[in-house]
Amino acid sequence: MRFEYCPKCGRRLVEKFSWDEGGVPYCPDDDLMFFDTPKPCIVVAVLREDKILLLKQSYIYKNSKVLLSGYVTNGENIEETVIREVKEETGITIDSLKYLGSDCIPEKEILMITFMAKYVSGEITKSSEVEWAEWCKICDAISEMSEDKIGKRIVNKVLKEIKTTISI
Ligand SMILES: [Zn+2]
Repeated sequence: MRFEYCPKCGRRLVEKFSWDEGGVPYCPDDDLMFFDTPKPCIVVAVLREDKILLLKQSYIYKNSKVLLSGYVTNGENIEETVIREVKEETGITIDSLKYLGSDCIPEKEILMITFMAKYVSGEITKSSEVEWAEWCKICDAISEMSEDKIGKRIVNKVLKEIKTTISI
């Protein structure tokens, strides 16, 4: 989102030249620049043996299951976000995070940072944000995720990663 007014003091922003970025909305009173940056969001494929953790959250997709996701909070690194979100939404403890790449959703101004992780402990105790959370066979997951294009791509990446690990 390109800011027009200062979110701190409300004055109309002016344009300030910033090297490679070009003209950036700037508040001379607060001496702050407001870059047009996306919101960072994590998505994680949690694995437990041959199963993957899937959620149902109708506000995201009506008829599909999804991978666990959440926004990065100011003050935490991305790995902390992944561990916190899994704990908050399902009560599960994970480790062995592996970065799988990123996707951008320009219309929602989101940058999705993707991981896979391993289940360590805990039983699923879902938060009220989640309607349903269960372990699903990885090979069946894609058919449950019809609307979630990015999620399906992530599951395919996970399948590739698992195959690579097995062949070693
Ligand atoms: Zn200001």
